[in-house]
Amino acid sequence: MDFDFTEEHELVRRTVRDFAVERVAPVAEELDREGRFPYELVAEMAELGFMGMPIPEEYGGGGADTLAYAVAIEELTRIDSSVAITVAAHTSLGTMPIFLYGTEEQKREWLPDLASGRKLAAFGLTEPQAGSDAGATRTKAERRDGRWVVDGSKIFITNAGTDITACVTITARTGEDEISNLVVPNGAPGYRISKPMKKLGWRASDTRELSFEGCEVPEGNLLGERGRGYQQFLEILDGGRISVAAMGVGLAQGAYDLAYGYAKEREQFGKPISAFQAIQFRLADMATEIEAGRALVYKAAWLKDQGRPFAREAAMAKLYTGELSNRVANWALQIHGGYGYMDEYAVSRLYRDQKILEIGEGTNEVQRMVIARHLGL
Ligand SMILES: Cc1cc2nc3c(=O)[nH]c(=O)nc-3n(C[C@H](O)[C@H](O)[C@H](O)COP(=O)(O)OP(=O)(O)OC[C@H]3O[C@@H](n4cnc5c(N)ncnc54)[C@H](O)[C@@H]3O)c2cc1C
Repeated sequence: MDFDFTEEHELVRRTVRDFAVERVAPVAEELDREGRFPYELVAEMAELGFMGMPIPEEYGGGGADTLAYAVAIEELTRIDSSVAITVAAHTSLGTMPIFLYGTEEQKREWLPDLASGRKLAAFGLTEPQAGSDAGATRTKAERRDGRWVVDGSKIFITNAGTDITACVTITARTGEDEISNLVVPNGAPGYRISKPMKKLGWRASDTRELSFEGCEVPEGNLLGERGRGYQQFLEILDGGRISVAAMGVGLAQGAYDLAYGYAKEREQFGKPISAFQAIQFRLADMATEIEAGRALVYKAAWLKDQGRPFAREAAMAKLYTGELSNRVANWALQIHGGYGYMDEYAVSRLYRDQKILEIGEGTNEVQRMVIARHLGL
C-alpha cells in the first residue's frame, strides 16, 4: 500500500486549491446571491486546464488520471459547489460520453472545444416522469429522411443553457425496446431551453428544463451503437459518481474548516468554544468521517485508473460521502450558532449546497440498490 500522492497529484491539489482560495472564494457569496453563472471563472479554469482534465491531450484535454480529477473537484467544492459542479457535470457527464462512445470524426468535431473549456456540454437523462427509473425515458427519436426527429422533454439538466453551451447528449427511445444516445447541438431547430430553474443550492450553476418538438438532428449525431444507450448511461453514471463523491468530501472539508476556525475564535463563558469537550468531540467526529470518505473516493478513482471494476466502490463512495457531508454540514452550522444561519457566513451556503449530493447522479436509495446488486442481492 502507498497512501502518498505523486508529485503530480500534489501539484494538482496545490494549483486548484490556490485558484479556489484566491479566485473563487472572494466571489462565491455574490454569485450565489445573484444566481449568476460564473463565466469569468470558467474562462480562467479553461486557461488553467481544469475543464477537460481526464480527456487525452490529443483531443485538447489534460491527460490526467481519475484521481487527479477527483482531487481537483474536491478542492473546488471545498470553497464553492456551484463552480465545482459546473466543471464536474461538464467533464463527467457532458464531455465523457463523446470521448467514450464517439466515432473518431465526432471526437474531432466536439472534443477540442469541450476539453479546452471554450464550450460546455450537458447530459440530459432525467425526465419529468423518469428520474431514478431513468430507463423509463419517454423522449423519442425517429429516423426520417436521413435525420433524427426528437420529441420529448428533460428536466434539471446542468450546464444546458449557458451562453457557451455547445450541446447536450440525450437519451431517447429509438425503437420499441431501444434507447440510444444522441448529441443535440444548442440552436437545433425544435430544441427549446427554459429559463434557469430556481434552486435551494448550487444557485450559480445552470439548471434547465429542455423540450424537443420535432427537433431535427443530423443522422451522424447518434452516439455509439444504436440501442446501446441504456448501457452507456449506466457507465457514465458510474464514472460520474466518483466526481460527485469527491464533491461530498470537499464540501465536508470546507464546512469542517469553517467550523474549526470559528470554534477557535468564538468565545462564550470566558473561553473559546473549542475548549468545550462537546465541540471538540464534534470536530473529532467530523475529521474522522472526512478521512474515511476521502479514502473511499480515492480508492474508487484508483481502481478506475487501474482499469479494474470500480462501480461498486464508486456507489459506496457516493453514498457515504453524500450522507457524511450532510452530517458534517449540519454540525458545522451548529458550531456557528445563530451566525451560521446568516447569509454572510459561508457555512450557510455550504449547508444549502449539500442536500443535492444525496439526490443527483442517483439518490441515496439508488446507491443502496446499486451496492446491493453488487453484493449479489
Ligand atoms: C440541481 C440538479 C441538477 C441535476 N443535473 C442533472 C443533469 O445534468 N442531468 C440529468 O440527467 N439529471 C440531472 N439531475 C436529476 C437527478 O439526477 C434526479 O433528480 C435524480 O436522479 C432523482 O430523480 P427524481 O428527482 O425524479 O426523483 P425520484 O426518482 O422521483 O425519487 C423520489 C424519491 O423516491 C425514491 N425512490 C425512487 N425509486 C425508488 C426505489 N425503487 N426504491 C426506493 N426509493 C426510491 C428516491 O430515492 C427519492 O427519495 C439534476 C437534479 C438536480 C436537482
